[in-house]
Amino acid sequence: MQNIDTYNFLGKKALIRVDFNVPLNDKKEIIDDTRIKASIPTLKKVIEKGGTLILMAHMGKPKGPSEDLSLKHTIKRIEQYMGLPVKFAPDCMNADDKVKNLKTGEILLLENLRFYAEEECKPRGLAKDVSDKEKDTAKKELKESQKKFCKKLASYADCYINDAFGTAHRKHASTAIIAEYFPNDKMFGYLMEQEIKAINKILKNPQRPLTAIMGGAKVSSKIGIIEHLLDFVDNLLITGGMVFTFKKALGGKIGDSLFEENQVDTALKTIKLAKEKNVKLYFSDEVVAADRFSNDAKTIICSSDNIPDGWMGLDASDKTLKEWSKVIKKSKTILWNGPIGVFEMPNFSKGTKIVAQLLAEATDNGTYTLVGGGDSVAALSTLGFKDRVSYVSTGGGAMLESFEGKTLPGIKAILD
Ligand code: AMP
Repeated sequence: MQNIDTYNFLGKKALIRVDFNVPLNDKKEIIDDTRIKASIPTLKKVIEKGGTLILMAHMGKPKGPSEDLSLKHTIKRIEQYMGLPVKFAPDCMNADDKVKNLKTGEILLLENLRFYAEEECKPRGLAKDVSDKEKDTAKKELKESQKKFCKKLASYADCYINDAFGTAHRKHASTAIIAEYFPNDKMFGYLMEQEIKAINKILKNPQRPLTAIMGGAKVSSKIGIIEHLLDFVDNLLITGGMVFTFKKALGGKIGDSLFEENQVDTALKTIKLAKEKNVKLYFSDEVVAADRFSNDAKTIICSSDNIPDGWMGLDASDKTLKEWSKVIKKSKTILWNGPIGVFEMPNFSKGTKIVAQLLAEATDNGTYTLVGGGDSVAALSTLGFKDRVSYVSTGGGAMLESFEGKTLPGIKAILD
């Protein structure tokens, strides 16, 4: 299989799928450029090896062309990191002239691929009351048109690189389908390689004990990964808003805490499975509860299965954190996804902060620590611990789906 280091880029045009889906403020300035920064090593290497870059990406969820979601807002930042000018093709399907005029070592950025429905292959503009049959026909037509879309993009270049881990779990034109047009000239970028390596450190022969810390709001969005984790972790810490559904399922009183009634059976099944598979389960057994969902709320410390009516658990207590610190300190590999409490409110951010700190210390002591998922990464950044863990994944959904045991379409397309 080809990779960036072995491939001969000399005089070749490389079509690179990057993840430039960065958040913008009202003035269309970039708030967080982590994703752009993460793709720079790949881009620099191709240029260094005598190649020319054609970059393709998406931004947001446009329903068609949109000034607000134009990739032109990223140009200055790319230029700054690359130290080179970036040319721009305002329509990704009409870039022949721009491509033809590209000289070796130059960079061309194509406009947001999602301005075309073909990228995601989701029919647009269908009436709400349209029948399933009509929907099917529209989808089939779009699928045909998606082939032409891929063929056109592929015609611009000699080789294809996928470095967009953040969208690797999507079976889109530029992430999965287009690879077919480059059977011998397709490869992963450095970022993708790093992400795959980090995931394999957990999935294949991890150093044990292996501990997973799963937080965040909802059981329903994490249950896929939790069930799969039970097959290979030694310890599983369930925290965040999820914990209360488990506690209530076990007969506890959770006051007004977050609760998903339709997940009660799943929670009980998870507890049973953990026992059968010899996985030690930990919960936020004691919590900081508030009398309303506000940073200025009154708070009490109570057991998470005995929360008074009108109060809601919003963070783990010191006692809970102390218990977990023993588990974390003994672990040799740790996976963390999802905040411990409502970390956006300073008064309920302590649990997330302490866990970030414990992971940083564990990393210093030789433990492999992988953090992924939008909110836990955001928490790490705000709290200043982003550079103190072994690896921070750039793709929340993609990382979660990898741990659910799925081979991501963007990865499969290169490996096939
Ligand atoms: P997720 O996207 O599923 O990782 O969830 C992240 C969200 O979970 C954040 O916005 C947190 O504020 C929220 N969260 C964490 N703990 C709690 C809690 N105890 N109650 C309500 N929301 C929570």
